[in-house]
Amino acid sequence: MKYLCPRPPILKVEPLSPSLPRVISDDKLSDNLYELLEGKIERLPWATIDGPADDSVDGILTFGHHAVTAAHMANFPQLKVVSNYGVGVDHIEVAAATELGISVGNTPDVLTSTTADMALSLMLAAARRVCEGDQYARCSEFKVFDPAYMLGTEVHHQTVGIIGLGRIGYQIARRCAAFDMEILYHKRTQLADNPDQLNLTYTSLEELLNRSDFVIVICPLTDETTGLIGTQQLAAMKNSAVLVNVARGPVVCTEALTVALREKQIYAAGLDVTDPEPLPREHELLTLDNVTITPHLGSATMQTRRKMAELTVVNLMQGLAGEPLAHSVS
Ligand code: NAP
Repeated sequence: MKYLCPRPPILKVEPLSPSLPRVISDDKLSDNLYELLEGKIERLPWATIDGPADDSVDGILTFGHHAVTAAHMANFPQLKVVSNYGVGVDHIEVAAATELGISVGNTPDVLTSTTADMALSLMLAAARRVCEGDQYARCSEFKVFDPAYMLGTEVHHQTVGIIGLGRIGYQIARRCAAFDMEILYHKRTQLADNPDQLNLTYTSLEELLNRSDFVIVICPLTDETTGLIGTQQLAAMKNSAVLVNVARGPVVCTEALTVALREKQIYAAGLDVTDPEPLPREHELLTLDNVTITPHLGSATMQTRRKMAELTVVNLMQGLAGEPLAHSVS
């Protein structure tokens, strides 16, 4: 498939610092990134990406909040690299970049265990009503311990179904094994080996949904996975089941999930990502007690964000130098 767009005429822009590579980046970066990029590049505002064609742009640094399309990349004939701060690259047209000879880098591995921890946090929080309990403990109605209030659902010795058993999914499985859970998984290809001898069972998506007490979604967002969990899939889950999404918002259909939670077709949900993100403040999902929502915190620890920043900058500088990237997507 051809991704190349006709390149518009070049508008010459004189570089401010001719010696430094010119890189379009998100306007607000983390302190780590500011520090690591200091003196290495000339940063251009994000709006540059929608500006006129420019042959002085060498790189793009992105967080995953904004799309980087074939048309954008075709506008910068000297573009060598798109370096993404994060593992998910669904916002970048990678095939188009490859066709244009542009390297795309991301930051897998360094965030794997941290994101798996977040999946477990949401699973436990949703099952054991941690956020509701926190609210209640702070309010004036809480006067005395009541053995009947806020009963949740058990996690240990239950069945978990993991959709997308890749780097992060596997680490989720290891953690679930420590909770004595039965572990089902679904992906397009069955695992060839199982280095930790975990008791993993490969199933179809339908069987996983039917059998699981907890369904954890951690596959990439692609054409194939957009809307993977909709009305039909939610109906296939147990009424007592908890859905956790730490992948990307559009993998789960927001409206179908809202109905399922409102009508108690499933017990609860834990969401680190939503579609759209953030949800409109008046969205019904934000009013429901049986959903726990975090603002895309999967990799958000001080230690992991530092490692992600380092790898993002390594990829960027390697790409700008025309070298192979430490972590290349394409
Ligand atoms: P990975 O190692 O590439 O694993 C992805 C897994 O998804 C693989 O097992 C893959 O197996 C499976 N998969 C792909 N297409 C599928 C489909 N159509 N149906 C079912 N399974 C499918 O990636 P990772 O490092 O674990 O990261 C996974 C995703 O997590 C990222 O793409 C990102 O979007 C998300 N993420 C979110 C956060 C956050 O902050 N919430 C943080 C990090 C990552 P097959 O190829 O065999 O299908």
